[in-house]
Amino acid sequence: MYLLPFLYFSSMHTSCKSCGKAISGNYCSNCGEKVVTPKERTFLFQLGKIVNAITFADTKMLQTLWLVIRRPGRLSSDYAEGKRVPYSSPLALFFIGNLIYFLMPMLETFNTTLDVQMHGMPYGAITTKAVENRIERENISMEEFTSEYNVASTSNAKLLLIFMVFFMVPAYAILCHRKGIYFADHFVMSLELSIYNIFVNTIFFGLLLFPVVFLFRLSGTDITPYLNDRLITIVVLISLIYFLYSSMRNMYGWNAAGALVRSFLIIAWLVVSLIAYRLTLFWASFYMV
Ligand SMILES: [Zn+2]
Repeated sequence: MYLLPFLYFSSMHTSCKSCGKAISGNYCSNCGEKVVTPKERTFLFQLGKIVNAITFADTKMLQTLWLVIRRPGRLSSDYAEGKRVPYSSPLALFFIGNLIYFLMPMLETFNTTLDVQMHGMPYGAITTKAVENRIERENISMEEFTSEYNVASTSNAKLLLIFMVFFMVPAYAILCHRKGIYFADHFVMSLELSIYNIFVNTIFFGLLLFPVVFLFRLSGTDITPYLNDRLITIVVLISLIYFLYSSMRNMYGWNAAGALVRSFLIIAWLVVSLIAYRLTLFWASFYMV
């Protein structure tokens, strides 16, 4: 039923719209141009595609995401080998994740409060001094500054996931240098890591907090004081080791020892990047207040 008008239409076009070569089938065998049917040109069809992508009615996207979670590194290795049609584009998945993340104000996994910036980071002495000078000079209270700072920091922090893709490409390229694996392959691997970070470490864990806090409250315990930076860091770290170790095996084919050593080196790289990121986040938010 669906195919009939399609066949009728494509049989009317015997040459490619882009390169002019003769076409048999739905795609041009010379340049890859797709034969566009009148149905695909309607507004409703295009709208449906966008709605599908955003609401995850698109099963290809869900299956790709599930593969990233279940078998880390497999998407990148299949992509590198040229097996791409079964999956949705990692870049599209990455941006959908970012969109969800930006639209959900309660997700703050990667945010850093002023308290942590002043007392929980190796550069704490510098930030503490800067804040003290600032509140003295402008004659404002610490509470005033803190609340304004945290608002600025929350929105700035959401950019971390985009920067992280670029942080990670050189790490993979250096640590996982192998013949036949190109820079673009490491880029897809970094994208896959970021997809995992957004959907699992940020969206899933972030949303999981609410029912967990609620259930504990029902039983009479308030666990919010324990949900501090350190606990979240530990949970994210364990989840990251799982992803990194599996992706080292699946994407680069390292043996168990090689995969483990490289996972920890990547974590070390991440920690250094994170400290540099948090310091940048501090100054950016500090001057925005
Ligand atoms: Zn063509």
